[in-house]
Amino acid sequence: MSKGKMHVKKGDQVVVLSGKDRGKKGKVLRSYPDEGRVMVEGINIVKKHTKPKQRVQGGINEQPAPVQSSNLMVICPACKAPTRLGRMQLKDGTRVRACKKCGENIDK
Ligand SMILES: [Zn+2]
Repeated sequence: MSKGKMHVKKGDQVVVLSGKDRGKKGKVLRSYPDEGRVMVEGINIVKKHTKPKQRVQGGINEQPAPVQSSNLMVICPACKAPTRLGRMQLKDGTRVRACKKCGENIDK
């Protein structure tokens, strides 16, 4: 997948399609377009052992690790269901993503 062409963006609600977190939903926290990956709240949680730094205690830190964006489906805010996305062009020429089920612009 080429750079910047991911179908999921920061702030999207997504559902996981496969793997250990299959069926789980969460919000996209960060995207890594170069890798085709995104970090999703509560998904693919890994325990990271942190080394003690000055004044900060070391320990086990649970945080989400990035997952492949192709393993995610965006949940349409209008029909509240996982959906495939299409593209549409607004009157001012802006290209946005649209729900293929209800046709709603999900980038507003
Ligand atoms: Zn929809």
